[in-house]
Amino acid sequence: MVSGPSGVGKGTVVREVLEKSGNIRLSVSATTREKRAGEVDGLDYHFYSMEEFMQLASSDQMLEYAVYCGNYYGTPAGPIKAWLQSGLDVLLEIEVEGAKQIKEKVKDCVTVFLLPPSLDVLRKRLELRGTEGQERLNLRIRRAMEEIKEASFYNYLVVNDNIFDATADVLSIIRAEKLKTSRIGSFLGEVLKDQSCER
Ligand code: 5GP
Repeated sequence: MVSGPSGVGKGTVVREVLEKSGNIRLSVSATTREKRAGEVDGLDYHFYSMEEFMQLASSDQMLEYAVYCGNYYGTPAGPIKAWLQSGLDVLLEIEVEGAKQIKEKVKDCVTVFLLPPSLDVLRKRLELRGTEGQERLNLRIRRAMEEIKEASFYNYLVVNDNIFDATADVLSIIRAEKLKTSRIGSFLGEVLKDQSCER
């Protein structure tokens, strides 16, 4: 799971990570937020009315959901279960409250928090992005500060000073996590079971 304040560059880092690694699928979230220019329904998000969203949430079809700056966001459960069953890794790009809900359910999930080099840089990036009016931008900055306070809940902190290094950091985390004894211990068992190489 990757979290981080709005404007920190999560989307770009996640896109780069997906491009450079083969076996990872990105969860497409559901949201009640309005579609931004250029966003595609089903690709960037599943855009739902409040009523549709609540129906999915109340029928257990979301792994988690949360409110972020007045809109609902949630992770559809179906695709994730199918991907995990077929041995694929799954990447979620979600905010802090949702990440906590997932951590409760999936204890061995790996959580990464992307930090901006400074709050000033974050504000400038949000202003440059130009997707929010002044009021919403201030709301997102306030929420950013609240989220950064929660960063210590995460397994890893990555500062997104530049995309190249931040992407390399996230890829290293994924690689190291996949080599953890707790994840490949069964392979060790297989090696030890094979005594045929004894002389
Ligand atoms: P944005 O409106 O900028 O696309 O996203 C706002 C926030 O919602 C971001 O922090 C993003 O990571 C988060 N978000 C996106 N999808 C989900 C989701 O499925 N669940 C939760 N809890 N947060 C999400």
